[in-house]
Amino acid sequence: MVIIEKEVEETIRFVTDRMLGKLSTWLRILGYDTIYAAEVKGECVGEDETLAALAEHEARILLTRDKILAASATRKGVQCVHIKTGVVMGQLKELLRHYQNLNLEPVSIRCSLCNGRLRKVREEEEEDILREKSYVPTSMIGECDFWICNRCGRIYWKGSHWRNMRERLKELQ
Ligand SMILES: [Zn+2]
Repeated sequence: MVIIEKEVEETIRFVTDRMLGKLSTWLRILGYDTIYAAEVKGECVGEDETLAALAEHEARILLTRDKILAASATRKGVQCVHIKTGVVMGQLKELLRHYQNLNLEPVSIRCSLCNGRLRKVREEEEEDILREKSYVPTSMIGECDFWICNRCGRIYWKGSHWRNMRERLKELQ
């Protein structure tokens, strides 16, 4: 697992348009640093330019459902993938065609809600940090590892949702 996390860390980063909220979540689950348009501060007007500029300045790959944006970004030399399907698993498949080495194993690197970095909750912190989060099943505390988002404080653990995600991703392999 540590090896996968290191590899993901050193590879590609993304910026996604407003149509790709679900895909952004999945990319974060797979460990990829992904900025989602709806979370970028600023006006909606000129958003296309903002996304293209972000991609260019931060060497991110722009993912968009918008053919015109894809064409104009590509003309500017921005790395860009025009995503054609509306279904998230199909979108991951499309990405796989462009990036064959895309990691398809969920990793505890990034918060799927905010793209913040996760860190492991230490055993001695568990009581304080976990008890105040009502969505963490108390029966799990002490039974498994937990991670916390450095930015928003969301807690993650490898429960049944984790196994479900792995199953869905397996179908892509
Ligand atoms: Zn977060």
